[in-house]
Amino acid sequence: MATIACDRCGFEGDKELFRHIGNVMCCGPLVFKKCPKCNEPVICDRQEMRGEIEDTARQVSCQVEDAVENGDFDLAKKVLGELYQLNQTLNIDSIDDYIRQTRRRINKLRAAS
Ligand SMILES: [Zn+2]
Repeated sequence: MATIACDRCGFEGDKELFRHIGNVMCCGPLVFKKCPKCNEPVICDRQEMRGEIEDTARQVSCQVEDAVENGDFDLAKKVLGELYQLNQTLNIDSIDDYIRQTRRRINKLRAAS
């Protein structure tokens, strides 16, 4: 299990204990997390969290498929937007392709309905 160490007070603990505050830069690999002991922001490498984000991306793409299946195209587009945001971190080409293809699919389905 991944642990994070605070460089201010030396507290070390599971990454779940450190609350996510935000990104250091809008699309950079670093994020701020909050130390549970001294409440100071700790900078973490996003690579550690990549696995989690990949899991989320997988769940989100299932939501997209469900929404398309149900003909809820607005929801599908909204969830695709979330997937797009997640992929700003992951930078996976196949996800980009998936987003593009699904947008096209939605437009086609919408035009046909
Ligand atoms: Zn600390």
